[in-house]
Amino acid sequence: MDLNTLYRTVIMDNYKNPKNKGLTNRDDYHFVHLNNPSCGDEMNVEVKVENGIIKDIRQDGHGCSISMSSASVMSDLLIGKTVEEARKLITDFYGVVIGQTPEDEDALGEAIAYMGVRQFPARVKCATLAWKAIEKGLDEVSGDGRQ
Ligand code: ZN
Repeated sequence: MDLNTLYRTVIMDNYKNPKNKGLTNRDDYHFVHLNNPSCGDEMNVEVKVENGIIKDIRQDGHGCSISMSSASVMSDLLIGKTVEEARKLITDFYGVVIGQTPEDEDALGEAIAYMGVRQFPARVKCATLAWKAIEKGLDEVSGDGRQ
């Protein structure tokens, strides 16, 4: 499958059937809201971290298919990872959307498809919105990566 086909497929699959969609509004989850005024995307993310491990991520919001699908992909990839592993994947993803090949492509799973967004620089903020939200959440929950 070429990159453009993969890009469209991953976006459509995750837009139509989003993973980890819907907030819990529970006290043991940390809530972050971010928006992307250039496109009108609104992103809500909840993260539950225990002993340095991401136990759960929930995501909800509204906006374009790129931002919404990316939130689904992000949540699916990062649940079960340590905070440290997640930070590395988030950094790698920021490279991917501007066309940089990460050291470990396989580690990014479906998220590698967002390399396709490099052709549309105006949409990079859509692709990274959920990742910025989870990054902020991890900063607020764990400070330097430890609890
Ligand atoms: Zn957007």
